[in-house]
Amino acid sequence: MTDTAAWTEPAPTPLALLLLGQGSDADTERGVECPGALPPASDPDLVARARAAREALGSRAYVLGHHYQRDEVIQFADVTGDSFKLAQQAAAHPQAEFIVFCGVHFMAESADILTSDAQQVVLPDLAAGCSMADMAEIGQVEDAWDRFVALGLADSTIPITYMNSTAAIKAFTGRNHGTICTSSNARQSLEWAFARGERVFFLPDQHLGRNTAVLELGLSLADCVLYDPHKPGGGLTDAQLREARVVLWRGHCSVHGRFTPEVVDEARARIPGVRILVHPECQHEVVRRADLVGSTEFIIRAIEAAEPGSAWAIGTELNLVRRLALAHPDKQISFLDRSVCYCSTMNRIDLPHLVWALESLAAGTVVNRIVVDTDTAHWARVALDRMLALPGVGATPSPD
Ligand code: SF4
Repeated sequence: MTDTAAWTEPAPTPLALLLLGQGSDADTERGVECPGALPPASDPDLVARARAAREALGSRAYVLGHHYQRDEVIQFADVTGDSFKLAQQAAAHPQAEFIVFCGVHFMAESADILTSDAQQVVLPDLAAGCSMADMAEIGQVEDAWDRFVALGLADSTIPITYMNSTAAIKAFTGRNHGTICTSSNARQSLEWAFARGERVFFLPDQHLGRNTAVLELGLSLADCVLYDPHKPGGGLTDAQLREARVVLWRGHCSVHGRFTPEVVDEARARIPGVRILVHPECQHEVVRRADLVGSTEFIIRAIEAAEPGSAWAIGTELNLVRRLALAHPDKQISFLDRSVCYCSTMNRIDLPHLVWALESLAAGTVVNRIVVDTDTAHWARVALDRMLALPGVGATPSPD
């Protein structure tokens, strides 16, 4: 079986990938123009320029590449991984003065929180935000928490915040006796919380919270209520809040939230013997129909361990699925959807931005530095440390 026989490229959609280069996207976490003069994407010397700048920086720089990044960027990564693994890797390389994070804004914040003051974290394009992180703003979350306080529920409610959130939301969680979770330790986080309180306030991904509560802890869908920050009182009555076991924030990932139960059924009808492998950020009905569900690292390991000739349809970001298909030509790997499904904000980090960031650093100018203020970093760290202390979590959890 050849590479091309094993992989069918999904059809492009007009909004699947933002244009290369400068610009802003009102839907991103930051939505800002990238300062500085970017090289044109058509520059034939971009790869050579990136190599030269990388070489000039040597061990002063450490380049992190998230699994969902483009190939053109991933080729320059010193390490690839999910967001928490990458933040930990940054901290594990204290000799690196510059951490160049090819990921999205909240990931760079986490790296800044976990690294020393001597290290500077750089995000090559400030417009690389995360639609899910954007769906929980700190003011909205504090308003919601005020409601728990007013109803006398705050003492019996434990906040759990998914890694994919702003530093401010992580700090809110730390201040209010909660913990962070990743998609591979959400179950332990919920169990930890229910040992301390009667209900969980889960932010910002409703799907991860619901899937974990129902499919792993055995709660019912009726035990989970949805808090919509755009409705008065979150759209919930006092009684609904009081009786809920899990209060889910109305947020979702725009990439994983796209997969529908229908595309699972279509894949099963189209591909004989196919196994469906999805990320827990997918909708509940999609996860219920899947054969396997797990974090990005889980998905990679499952495909590595799969028997030759086996057929898989994978519901996660397209760059990763394509790389898995090309790395495993002996297995039949398909993208779960029929159309393109990139993380458009993650894909804003392209080769021109990477070249610009590396060349600027090599020339002595720190660009697009991400700094989390001391108080926010302290409380976010408190919440992160609670996660690391969870039974069975330790040093290698796998988030996004
Ligand atoms: S894949 Fe989803 S959760 Fe991950 S960075 Fe993109 S929008 Fe955010």
